[in-house]
Amino acid sequence: MIKKKNILTDSFKRKHSYLRISLTERCNLRCTYCMPEEGVLLSHKSHIMNFDEIYTIAKTFVDNGVTKIRLTGGEPLIRKDLPLLLKKLATLPVDIGITTNGVIVDRFIDTFKECGIRNINVSLDSLKKEKFTQITRRNYFDRVYKNILLLAKNGFNVKINAVLIRGFNDDEIVDFVNLSKDLPVSVRFIEFMPFDGNKWDMKKMVSYAEIIQYLNSHFSEEQIKRLQDSPNDTSKNYKIKGYKGSFAIISSVTNPFCDSCNRLRLTANGHLKNCLFSATESDILTSLRNGKPIEPIIQKAVFGKFKIRGGMDTLEKLQEPKLHTQNRNMTTIGG
Ligand code: SAM
Repeated sequence: MIKKKNILTDSFKRKHSYLRISLTERCNLRCTYCMPEEGVLLSHKSHIMNFDEIYTIAKTFVDNGVTKIRLTGGEPLIRKDLPLLLKKLATLPVDIGITTNGVIVDRFIDTFKECGIRNINVSLDSLKKEKFTQITRRNYFDRVYKNILLLAKNGFNVKINAVLIRGFNDDEIVDFVNLSKDLPVSVRFIEFMPFDGNKWDMKKMVSYAEIIQYLNSHFSEEQIKRLQDSPNDTSKNYKIKGYKGSFAIISSVTNPFCDSCNRLRLTANGHLKNCLFSATESDILTSLRNGKPIEPIIQKAVFGKFKIRGGMDTLEKLQEPKLHTQNRNMTTIGG
């Protein structure tokens, strides 16, 4: 029998101190690699966690050892009660970050500051306006780019997430790295991952090794500096000497970081996912609504976590469509 105080430790002795909470399944963009063309089936509003439920669940995790919460979605900034929610969550002893597509960031600069939120990740998959429109199916490039500059100007720690897709934006790798020349941001290249309905194909994925090889052919060995990664970091961090910012690669597919994984995910409808790739989830919200204790459910879900990528421990398994279509799409998981 595991002691109650260890409910966030799994059977491989990994301690989970990082919770990603999806605040909504809705999004104001329609990124092709994230959402299927026909859209996604959204949960009924009554099944989405309300303000008090998010706070209660977050507090339970913090009481049990979570020190870092990242709010995501869907697009977290489109949630109507966001400012109030941020203020409430900011009363917990936890470091809060946000992952956003940046479209309406300018409306929240003061709220972020008031709540002590410093870490903002903005997704941007192309530096070319037409390509941005093509991939997001929306014409918001200028707003997003302006908002990235605004965040940097206001001293936030900004990370830019770019999912590389072969033949689409892999010609922009150097342009993205050069964005860190004058801007103190970290540009992070994310390997394209398989999810339900995103038409994933291993051939479309640009791997960590390829990105490094490409950069090695553009910059000299002396120019590229490998940085020390933080503990539990999902990214391998680098810098071009003399640049204000840095860049990183998140190799979830070719080089997963499962051994040091400390993450759990809570979907907007209150289900706990113990891994981004897991095909199963545990419904916390229904128990909470029925007045039942949620800690035993959390404990069981954490203890059942697979060693590697939700059980897809080989690249062959990851390429098996049957396995990853049992998972949700990214917009309803909360990336
Ligand atoms: N709307 C917010 C945003 O755009 O950042 C938060 C949600 S979004 C699902 C979170 C992150 O997941 C984004 O950086 C996005 O690029 C990434 N993502 C979505 N689908 C992905 C995929 N198939 N492979 C890799 N990353 C993906």
